[in-house]
Amino acid sequence: MTDTRPLLLEVEDLKTYFYLDEGVVRAVDGVSFTIRRGQTVGVVGESGCGKSITARSIMQIVRPPGRIVSGSIRFHRAPPSNGNPGEVIEITKLDPMGKPMRMIRGGEISMVFQEPMTSLSPVHTVGDQIMEAIMLHQSVSKEEARRLAIHMFSKVGMQQPARTVDRYPHQLSGGMRQRAMIAMALSCTPSLLIADEPTTALDVTTEAQILQLMRDLQRELGMAIMFITHNLGVVAQMTEVVMVMYMGRIVETATVDDLFYAPKHPYTRLLLKAIPKLGSKAMGTATRLESIKGTVPHPYAIPRGCPFHPRCGDMIPGVCDAVEPPVVNVSDTQTVRCHLYQSAPSRDVIPLTPQSAAKVEH
Ligand code: SF4
Repeated sequence: MTDTRPLLLEVEDLKTYFYLDEGVVRAVDGVSFTIRRGQTVGVVGESGCGKSITARSIMQIVRPPGRIVSGSIRFHRAPPSNGNPGEVIEITKLDPMGKPMRMIRGGEISMVFQEPMTSLSPVHTVGDQIMEAIMLHQSVSKEEARRLAIHMFSKVGMQQPARTVDRYPHQLSGGMRQRAMIAMALSCTPSLLIADEPTTALDVTTEAQILQLMRDLQRELGMAIMFITHNLGVVAQMTEVVMVMYMGRIVETATVDDLFYAPKHPYTRLLLKAIPKLGSKAMGTATRLESIKGTVPHPYAIPRGCPFHPRCGDMIPGVCDAVEPPVVNVSDTQTVRCHLYQSAPSRDVIPLTPQSAAKVEH
């Protein structure tokens, strides 16, 4: 079914490269996707696949020697109440340190990072830090900012919020620090929250609490969430649409149901096979979980053709190692970048060879 919610973010052919002495690392290499208002989009893939750099490019916080080399990131600002259309801002054209970008960053697009200790200042109280963010984006007095900070802390489930605002990060537990980060990110009610592995450093109980908190706040505030994770269990719980990344490219985009019940890309299939399932023999000692053979290629030496071909059991010699696969729409809601598929007038999937057809079938 076509999603009719208004567009919030359009990323088109984004390329973010790192220029190092050893060579050029194409961390994000031609990524295109959209996020709609209120939508939850998951981004999955192994470490180093370009998930976080895509997010950092949207926030314009890519550190040198990395930089956006081409492509477009269009942010659709909410329409004003006077009936005029909303403004569309080309983020890549803004000065990363200029006022317009600083107003978007933290105001309309916020980010929660994996490890709050690296993002929170150790020498300021968490209250001071959230008040600074509030006063940067809203014209309120210090007293009002403190009141708003306490309100946000109670919203994210902080115990004794009026006392916690005066604590330093090292005086809080890991879960409480992550709640403080979420409170700071949501203090200006952003349209888009980018959550980069927000629960990876937490134990499973705290992870479940934080995920529930994010779902509740999303329902209440109506924001979109871009959820970056390597955990497909979290993806299943949290997201509507999922993008699978490999070597800086999106190799499959699908609804969460299609991704789990009808995955197309061989890499996606292998990622799913690597998840332990309750009740399966793999949970015991009888069988091992499947792993993806080989390792992620060296970033300075991306293989020719399909970058996944050295690890792919479906590789077609002479095709996959020679020609980069194009993006194919296999349905209105699913795209894949793989030579096993072709776009067809009927939009049916046409495997290229009989051998491939046999491999594609479960
Ligand atoms: Fe495997 Fe070829 Fe598809 Fe790449 S294009 S994932 S090598 S079948």
